[in-house]
Amino acid sequence: MKFLIFAELCNRIESIKGRLDTIEILSGAIKDVDLEDLAIFVRLILGKPFPDWSPMKLGIGPNLLYESIAYVTGKNRDGVIKRLNSVGDLGKAVEEMLANKSQTSFFAEELTLTEVYAAFEAISRAEGGKSQKERLRIIHRLFSVASPIEGHYITGILLDDMRIGVGEGNVRDAVAKAFGVDSSLVEHAQQVLNDMGEVAVLALLGQEALSQVKMQIFHPVRMMLARQGTISQVISDSGAIAVEYKYDGARFQFHKKGGDARMYSRRLEEVTDALPDVVSMLLGATDHDLILDGEVIAVKDDRPMPFQTVLKRFRRKHGVADAVDAITLVPNVFDILYLDGEMLLDRPFSERREILTRVLQMYATPQLVSDDPAAIEAYYQHALDDGHEGVMLKLLGSRYTPGMRGKDWVKIKPEVDTLDLVVVGAEWGEGKRAHVYGSFLVAARQDDRLVPVSRVATGLSDDQLTRLYETLKDTIMHTEEKMVYFEPALVFEIGYSEIQQSPNYEGGFALRFPRFVQVRDDKDIREANTLEDIRERYEMIQTR
Ligand code: AMP
Repeated sequence: MKFLIFAELCNRIESIKGRLDTIEILSGAIKDVDLEDLAIFVRLILGKPFPDWSPMKLGIGPNLLYESIAYVTGKNRDGVIKRLNSVGDLGKAVEEMLANKSQTSFFAEELTLTEVYAAFEAISRAEGGKSQKERLRIIHRLFSVASPIEGHYITGILLDDMRIGVGEGNVRDAVAKAFGVDSSLVEHAQQVLNDMGEVAVLALLGQEALSQVKMQIFHPVRMMLARQGTISQVISDSGAIAVEYKYDGARFQFHKKGGDARMYSRRLEEVTDALPDVVSMLLGATDHDLILDGEVIAVKDDRPMPFQTVLKRFRRKHGVADAVDAITLVPNVFDILYLDGEMLLDRPFSERREILTRVLQMYATPQLVSDDPAAIEAYYQHALDDGHEGVMLKLLGSRYTPGMRGKDWVKIKPEVDTLDLVVVGAEWGEGKRAHVYGSFLVAARQDDRLVPVSRVATGLSDDQLTRLYETLKDTIMHTEEKMVYFEPALVFEIGYSEIQQSPNYEGGFALRFPRFVQVRDDKDIREANTLEDIRERYEMIQTR
């Protein structure tokens, strides 16, 4: 497939507003793609060349791109940034600049989808001291043969900022429609494979192939997520439930095949080398091939330590042995997703739990099964007394649904009034804070968009402001007077006193007395709260 056809399709989809029209066009296009291009096509339309489970990453920030664009268009870097600021969207700015570039090359080469993809692979493989140079070389080459519209969407993919309004839900429905298979089966296969490209290929093969999807060891799946709720509500809806401590540590997924074992973080990054102690504890606790889900905590004198202590261990690249000595970690395993060749995701939780305690000699989290509110309250109080965050309530009949924040897991903790929101912008500070950002614009997710819901300036120390400035300054996408807007990557946990309806924000809600609690850099922006979560909390408070 010619990359130009892909870019023109992106352009067409971008101009469409309605979800149904998007799905219609997308499914028509997907039907026409050849089998050998299909997986790549689907990944690129989602703006992510590599599956989520894959360790391959592009890792391109706006700065590298400014440099490449300046080189290819014969402008200087400041000129590029200026242009960008006036257009507001780097992809569009690149399209314009490529169209105006002085020595127009006549696109002697026609890029194909597979060539562009190979370039992305080469970028991700570039390692070591000269990797930056190598990346630049590859991007230069891409831009020097790309037509303006191709440059637009290459930029979108490189920056992980496609802006064409196509999210996983749209692709799921378009794939289902294109190949006449059930949308729910496509969704299920996506949860198992964590790669919409491969799912599309299975869908093309038919309903049968799709329903026989297999989980793969060392391809981590997304973590199942929890909602907030109350003990009485869950019991009255579901009767007897499983209750576990809610540990305040770092989520992990452990994969083991024979003597080979790997650990993945909540963001599905491999952290095996940073956690040799935890890996060997789990390796020693079972002879089976399996995939486990759990939370690692740090302990001192039998008490849990703050989760930041655990993160220090997760991030360690050097001096791991010293860190192992300094910080004692303990895994708490609460689920099993795969055992000896069999996928367990679709088994009810009570069965998975029974299997877990059978095959894992140690580290399974204790559990209470009860429908008695008083017993559950007492268990909750115990968890708090032991220094844990609260409890998790889990429905006994529930499937494991990767990446979903459903009603099957409900978290109960004293501080319910925080939200995880994505930092999308900031305003320069004033006075002694004039050299850093003084307040931040944070957004909730809505489909594949981010909708601002609050500005936060309270709760940040000067030190934190300086550190945040250092982290964010290289991710600026554009500026507008005193505001800067970032490539979305960072998640803040934000406390608030109340949620109000507000015409001042596009999403219709605003937070009263927002305050910064902490950076959640264990969380991916996909795990941030949605506008729907905010609406639900608003309604919950109204009806209380
Ligand atoms: P939150 O991060 O507040 O949305 O709470 C959900 C998180 O709690 C999960 O993603 C896990 O990292 C963590 N967690 C701690 N203990 C458990 C448990 N027993 N079951 C499930 N998740 C747990």
